[in-house]
Amino acid sequence: MGIAQNLTEVRRNIDLAMNRAAVRPAGDEFKLIAVTKNQGIDEMRQAIDHGITAVGENRVQEVLGKLPELKRTVEWHLIGHLQTNKVRQIVPFADLIHSVDSRRVALEISRVAGKLGKCQDILIQVNAAGEPGKFGIAPEDTLALAQDISSLEHVRLCGLMTIAPQVADPELVRPVFRNLYRLFMELAAIRLDHTDMKWLSMGMTGDYITAVEEGANMVRVGTGIFGARQY
Ligand SMILES: *Cc1c(COP(=O)(O)O)cnc(C)c1O
Repeated sequence: MGIAQNLTEVRRNIDLAMNRAAVRPAGDEFKLIAVTKNQGIDEMRQAIDHGITAVGENRVQEVLGKLPELKRTVEWHLIGHLQTNKVRQIVPFADLIHSVDSRRVALEISRVAGKLGKCQDILIQVNAAGEPGKFGIAPEDTLALAQDISSLEHVRLCGLMTIAPQVADPELVRPVFRNLYRLFMELAAIRLDHTDMKWLSMGMTGDYITAVEEGANMVRVGTGIFGARQY
């Protein structure tokens, strides 16, 4: 199947999942992020022609390589782990950074954004399933990190992101999504400074339907749109 048909199918799955959802989606809006790591410019243009408004990339270097071609015809989301020493390169171009999981990287983002006269939108990445060796802050430490971040002048905390464990049956990760939705609602209720809890980024090709049923309003789909990645 081609990109256009895949997109039609993904969108239909999302609509159906929203209708079935046990909870209301986290925010009022919904955004489908096309994950374009290892995809070429042609594939990306096709997705944009078929209504994609935001792309997700894992690596800073790949964003910098693609930017001259696509410029700002699309929102650029950084969804992969961000090292402190790469912050300077990505902040000028990132519309949303999904992967903030430490005070240190948040501080550096604020410092760089301040110099650019920008306020950088970010999400906190939560290791919602507590998987050892995975990026993301522990659920029980998320409130403290959010409070820390709320004191930073040039960062706006816009929500939470998680990558669920890879499992064959997405039902197995439903509780992970449910817990993150709960944490999201708790944070939204306390109304921190420099915080606008509007995005709950959870769900990938294997589990986005379940994630939407559990309140995600931002899903990151690569394979489901473009087919299997060539590495
Ligand atoms: C690669 C990636 C995705 C998309 O994965 P698919 O299974 O191809 O949909 C989503 N989120 C993150 C953080 C990724 O690295």
